[in-house]
Amino acid sequence: MTTDDMNSSRRQIVGGAGFGLAAAAAAPALGQAAAPAAAAQPLRNPADAYPKPPFQRQSQPWPGLAGQMQPRPDHGENSYRGSGRLTGRRALITGGDSGMGRAAAIAYAREGADVAINYLPAEEPDAQEVIALIREAGRKGVAIPGDLREEAFCRRLVEDAVRGLGGLDIVVCNAARQQTRASILDVSSEDFDATMRTNIYAPFWIIKAALPHLQPGSAIIGTTSEQAYDPSPELYDYAQTKAATMNYVKSLAKQLASKGIRVNGVAPGPIWTPLQVSGGATMEKLETFGGQTPMGRPGQPAELGSIYVQLAAADASYATGQVYGSAGGSGQP
Ligand code: NAD
Ligand code: MG
Repeated sequence: MTTDDMNSSRRQIVGGAGFGLAAAAAAPALGQAAAPAAAAQPLRNPADAYPKPPFQRQSQPWPGLAGQMQPRPDHGENSYRGSGRLTGRRALITGGDSGMGRAAAIAYAREGADVAINYLPAEEPDAQEVIALIREAGRKGVAIPGDLREEAFCRRLVEDAVRGLGGLDIVVCNAARQQTRASILDVSSEDFDATMRTNIYAPFWIIKAALPHLQPGSAIIGTTSEQAYDPSPELYDYAQTKAATMNYVKSLAKQLASKGIRVNGVAPGPIWTPLQVSGGATMEKLETFGGQTPMGRPGQPAELGSIYVQLAAADASYATGQVYGSAGGSGQP
C-alpha cells in the first residue's frame, strides 16, 4: 500500500458516513460496539492541541483562502467522525468554503446530511475542497457561488439549494464581512453598507426565502461572536452586526417556536480563519492571535463543528433562542 492509498483508505474510514450508516442500519449492535473504540482515543490537553502564537505575519486579499494560510486551519478534515445524527437532512451553509462554515459542512456531511454551500466566486478553490469532502462522505454537495450583498442573489441561493437538495431542513447563516478600522472616521459609508448587507441583510433575506420551505423540526443557526457582548474598538461596524445576529436569533426563536422551527446561535472567540488574515485583524493582532485567552491560543474551526451539529440535531429539541459559545475561556455567550 502506498502512502496515498493509506491516506485515501483512512479518509474513507474517517469520512465513511456511507459505511457507518449501512452498518448501523443492518446491525445496530455493531454501531454500539464501535463506541468504546472511539472513546479510547487518548486524552489530549486542549491548551496544547493546536498552534499557539506567535504566528507568522501574513496577509491575503479579501476574502482570503484557507488553503493559503500558515499554518493551514483545521476544519476537522482528518478528525470529525459522524454517527448519523443528521441522516437525510438537507442543509444550506453560507460561507461554507472555509472557517466555521467549512467545519460545519464537513461535520454535517459525515453526520449524514446533504449540504449546499455558498461562497464568493474568488473562493472557488476552497469551495471545491469542501464539495469533494462532502462527496467523500457519501453525501450530495451543492456549490452555489454568489454575492450575499444582493437581495436577488439571496433569494436565488435558497431556490437553488432547495432544488439541488430536494428541500431544506437546516439553514446556517454564517458568512460575514469583518474589516478592521482603527477609527470610526476610517469607516466609509461603502464599508458600513457592505458589512450591514453581508452580516444583517443577507440572513434576513435568506431566512425569509427559506421559511416557506422549512417544516416543523427544521433548524436555523446564525454565527454571532464574542464581539456581540464585548466589542473591540477597531471593529465598530462588524461588532454591532454580531449583536444584531444574537438579537435576531432570540427574536426569531420566539416567533418560530410554535411553528416547530428552532433558531440558535454560535458565538466563537478568536478562531484561525481567512477572515482574520484578509483585513479582519491588524498584523499586530494576528501575530499574537488568541494569545490573550486563558487557553493561550486561537481556536480552530474544527473545534466548533460539533456545536453546529448539536444545534441542528433533533435531540436538541428544547434548545431554541440559545447562543452556544466557544472562546477558549473568555467571551460570554
Ligand atoms: P471565513 O473567512 O472562513 O468565513 C467567512 C465567509 O463569509 C467567507 O468564507 C465567505 O465565503 C463569506 N462571505 C463574506 N462576504 C460574502 C459575500 N458578500 N457574499 C458571499 N459570501 C461572503 O471566516 P470565519 O471566521 O469562519 O467566519 C465565519 C463566521 O464566524 C462569521 O460570521 C464571523 O463573523 C464569525 N466569527 C469568526 C470569528 C473568528 O475569530 N474567526 C470569531 C467570532 C465569529
Ligand atoms: Mg472563505
